[in-house]
Amino acid sequence: MTAIIAAGGRGLRLGAGRPKQLLSLGGRPILQRSVDAFLRSDRITDLIVALPRELAEAPPAYLRGASKAIEVVNGGDRRQDSVANAFARVSSRAEIIVIHDAARPFVTGDLITRTVEAAARHGAAIAALGATDTVKRGTKDGVIVETIPRDEIFLAQTPQAFRTAVLRDALARGGAVSGATDEASLAERAGHAVHLVDGDPRNVKITTAADLQAAERMIQSNGGSGTALRVGNGYDLHRLVAGRRLVLGGVVIPFDKGLDGHSDADAVCHAVTDAILGAAAAGDIGRHFPDTDAAWKDADSLALLTRASAIIADAGFGVSNVDVVVIAQRPKLAPHVDAIRANLARAMNVAVDCVSVKGKTNEGVDATGTGEAIAVHAVALILGSGKMGSGVIFGGHSK
Ligand code: MG
Repeated sequence: MTAIIAAGGRGLRLGAGRPKQLLSLGGRPILQRSVDAFLRSDRITDLIVALPRELAEAPPAYLRGASKAIEVVNGGDRRQDSVANAFARVSSRAEIIVIHDAARPFVTGDLITRTVEAAARHGAAIAALGATDTVKRGTKDGVIVETIPRDEIFLAQTPQAFRTAVLRDALARGGAVSGATDEASLAERAGHAVHLVDGDPRNVKITTAADLQAAERMIQSNGGSGTALRVGNGYDLHRLVAGRRLVLGGVVIPFDKGLDGHSDADAVCHAVTDAILGAAAAGDIGRHFPDTDAAWKDADSLALLTRASAIIADAGFGVSNVDVVVIAQRPKLAPHVDAIRANLARAMNVAVDCVSVKGKTNEGVDATGTGEAIAVHAVALILGSGKMGSGVIFGGHSK
């Protein structure tokens, strides 16, 4: 039985330029959580993941070398095109295909089993929840037309499972239909009976930043079971000198001086890198990216931050939030704060509202106050299971 994971959407607003399905949730990307649920299911033999074209070229590491075969295909412009691209790769031997939205990372093995068993019996079945609110139909200007009997209302989720012939017919006939938001609607239009199985209220779809925060809370509240919260602190200072570019958080800031150093001397990236590494007790920037190593000369420090995120991800953690204070007498930071936040969020694979950047002067006091240097403090909260990995030695946290 083949699972198709629909992750072709771009959902950029939530992710600071990264598709939302790649954002971290409780220490693992949303997509990885969804994929893992299908890897664990004993009903599933292989997976096909539809990713946005630019990601399909270099898929994340967790899609390679998994316990089951995972094929990556290009997503299309519309959801149904992504699923059609994936369906084209399904083995002719597959009897049932189950489709799942990558943005529903809390899908359980039971829900997958329920849905595919119903599809085997009936031809097509989807997980759905009965409405609990009273349901009204209204006009566009907000006047009720009628009250719809609640027992006739179901809210569709994924997984959605189909006999292969049913899905082939639904995709073939539905190709011209625009705006289909699930595969069941294509099957319905093609005249197939689609059965409803009990969905799971926890099987939520993550669409907005608020959804992502609620999902984090769900994980933390379940999470006595193995979720660790860890805090880390980072600090950096570089001298301001003539003849260098001033780079903070990956943003080149117009100024008559720049920070001196081996790399691009991006003190914001360095402090944040140390904060997240510190939270995982995974060493520091000097250990991972030594300035004696020519590889890091003039390095883009955002790339170092991305590498550090991967190091803590390997150790079982993801970034929850980061707060940064930049101490600089000049230049003014405010015009650049949003661009810095977006860069940091992208490098760490988190939503932009998980990243705060504040500028301070030092009231003319000390080296930062007299404009000889810029200093940066950062704190990071990370969370995850904290499994041992990649040779990272953990401090003595006990649970
Ligand atoms: Mg530094």
